[in-house]
Amino acid sequence: MTPRAPIGRPRGKPSLEEVLLARIDKGDGSGCWLWTGGVNAQGYGRLFRRRGTRFAHRLAFQVWNGPLNPDDRVRHTCDNPPCCRPDHIVKGTQRQNLADMVKKRRHAHGENHPHAKLTTEAVMAIRKSRRTGAALAREYGVSESTTGLIRKRKSRRLG
Ligand SMILES: [Zn+2]
Repeated sequence: MTPRAPIGRPRGKPSLEEVLLARIDKGDGSGCWLWTGGVNAQGYGRLFRRRGTRFAHRLAFQVWNGPLNPDDRVRHTCDNPPCCRPDHIVKGTQRQNLADMVKKRRHAHGENHPHAKLTTEAVMAIRKSRRTGAALAREYGVSESTTGLIRKRKSRRLG
C-alpha cells in the first residue's frame, strides 16, 4: 500500500490541499515551496478552479493558515512569488506592503542594525512559527540568538 492515493482514485475528489500539494515542490523542505503549475507575468502561481482563477499562494494560505477575505492582501516574507509555503505567506494591507517595500529599500542602502535584514513581516512570522530557532535562523539568514530574542519580543520594536 502506498500512502498517497493514486491520481484518478475512484471515490471523492481530491481536497484542495491535495490539489495544491500535487503542484508544489518542497525541495529539501528547508526553503520555499515552489509552485510548479502555471504562473502569471509576476511569477505568482495560478490555479484554475471552477469559479475562476485563483492565486496559488492565497489558496495555500487558506488551506494551511486560515480564512482570507477577498480583499485581504497576502504577501511573501521570502519575496518569492511562486512560493506556497504557509509560513512564508502573511496577511497584510496595501499600506503595510508599501511600508515594507520602503523599509527593505532603506535596508538595502546599508542600514547597519544587526536585525535590519528582517522585515517586520519576517519578525512576525518568526514569532508565529512553531519551527525551531535554528531552522528560522537559517531561513532568514540571522543568528539563532536573534530569532530567540525576537521570540522573546525583546530585540525589535515594531513600528
Ligand atoms: Zn518562500
